[in-house]
Amino acid sequence: MSDTQKTIFKKIIDREIPAKIVYEDELCLAFHDVSPQAPTHILVIPKIEIRSLVEIKKSDKELLGHLLVVTSEIAAKLGVSSAGYRVVVNTGQNGGQSVPHLHFHILAGRALTWPPG
Ligand code: 5GP
Repeated sequence: MSDTQKTIFKKIIDREIPAKIVYEDELCLAFHDVSPQAPTHILVIPKIEIRSLVEIKKSDKELLGHLLVVTSEIAAKLGVSSAGYRVVVNTGQNGGQSVPHLHFHILAGRALTWPPG
């Protein structure tokens, strides 16, 4: 993939654009959403480029489990676990996905309504 085709999240992984990073390990990165939809809004992304849940394979099982464990740990670290939070994975056009790099949204800090829009 050439530089011009890089997603905004790949550019964040490669440190070509800044982000407020809250967690990083060899498999994933987590940072504040630039346009927060709740008082706490974090994005957790794998470092490998998977476009969406549509592309997930059985071999990604361990990575996906890791992303959820990290999500839970970040929520605890940010102090939002006891009040609760929402994890969202927008997928494809109808799912409202705007960045084609798999990501988990962590939304917290206010009571979230259901159903979503
Ligand atoms: P999606 O709509 O694909 O589920 O979520 C993409 C998210 O990425 C949006 O909530 C959007 O605000 C966030 N986002 C887009 N560009 C940037 C950026 O340059 N930096 C950060 N930190 N977040 C971004």
